[in-house]
Amino acid sequence: MTSLPPSPPPTDTAGTPSDGPDQPFRAFLVTGTGDALRAGVASLTLDDLPEGDVVVEVGWSAVNYKDGMVTRPGNRVARTVPLVPGVDLVGTVVASRAAAVPVGAEVVVHGYDLGVARHGGFARYARVPAEWVVRLPDGLSPRRAAALGTAGFTAALSLRRLEDHGLRPGDGPVLVTGASGGVGGMAVALCAARGYEVVASTGRTSERAYLTGLGAADVVGRDDLVVAPGRTLGPERWAGAIDCVGGPTLAAVLRTLRYGAAVAASGLTGGSSVETTVYPFIVRNAALLGVDTVATPIAERRSVWVEMAASFPGDVLDSLVEGEVGLDGLAPVLESILAGRVRGRMLVRPGG
Ligand code: NDP
Repeated sequence: MTSLPPSPPPTDTAGTPSDGPDQPFRAFLVTGTGDALRAGVASLTLDDLPEGDVVVEVGWSAVNYKDGMVTRPGNRVARTVPLVPGVDLVGTVVASRAAAVPVGAEVVVHGYDLGVARHGGFARYARVPAEWVVRLPDGLSPRRAAALGTAGFTAALSLRRLEDHGLRPGDGPVLVTGASGGVGGMAVALCAARGYEVVASTGRTSERAYLTGLGAADVVGRDDLVVAPGRTLGPERWAGAIDCVGGPTLAAVLRTLRYGAAVAASGLTGGSSVETTVYPFIVRNAALLGVDTVATPIAERRSVWVEMAASFPGDVLDSLVEGEVGLDGLAPVLESILAGRVRGRMLVRPGG
């Protein structure tokens, strides 16, 4: 059953326990086609959820840039409509056909088709394949796991790619672009906690105190990354870089990597086209490392989560959380993230 009621059902109000998965539950649903997409709170039942071995009662989700993208009219990111967005979720298993994922287990699920090609985390319940499930690592609270979510995972995978390439603390400054956003903030915090000298790049230089609070040694304006624009290569500045912005920012980073350094690229908030020459690669021996978190094999996904639980200081994670919204408050937050106005992480409480 899928419907878009004008107001939330009175049986599932903020903060109350759910009536159980056999009852209708609330979800944030994108409906319509092409330019006529609309989004709002709807009532679903388990019959509306896709096939899968595991039903999760979602305690937390978070707003990621991609969640904004699937609500944008004409987008080519959502691969099915109606769609419950939410590319990550944290919750408790309430039904399971998989011995490895028992009822009562606290779990994290993100990536794969979640929130893009099948219903995701912006609903009270989600049903997923058991092989997508990550057990919540020991010592990590569900709220902090949601704060990490896709953003923390992307930052951690980016750093792993750079370290696989040879980067070590003490090598020199590591640049993080889009630093005020989710992936960027997580990357600043993680690299600083691991002992790297982090330089945060942002279009919001008013966020200097916030970024140094996360551990950045220095903060540079987005436009300041472009140096010696008339020359093929710029000065050798960065021992490594984590870029979630793409476009002209990534081009500027490539021109200013030190000899043998790498940039791990994950995003496109600044554009999907990158204008570069071959010189960073053939003169500076630079490397452009791709970071994909959607299809990360589950074994690596689980090991990154264990690593994240040990690496991120809890108080810094808490400081990355800007606020919490229920399903009714989601629409303006999704608009804000597309406009580059969300700082850090906004958590979602589908039951709130
Ligand atoms: P956020 O919106 O939280 O952060 C993105 C940041 O990019 C903003 O905070 C802003 O940082 C910067 N930015 C925004 N607009 C522009 C612009 N026009 N030019 C330059 N910089 C801009 O998004 P997320 O952290 O959730 O995601 C970041 C990117 O990473 C997205 O493109 C997302 O799709 C991608 N991503 C990719 C993944 C993968 O698997 N490859 C996984 C997760 C995310 P500031 O204000 O500090 O400059």
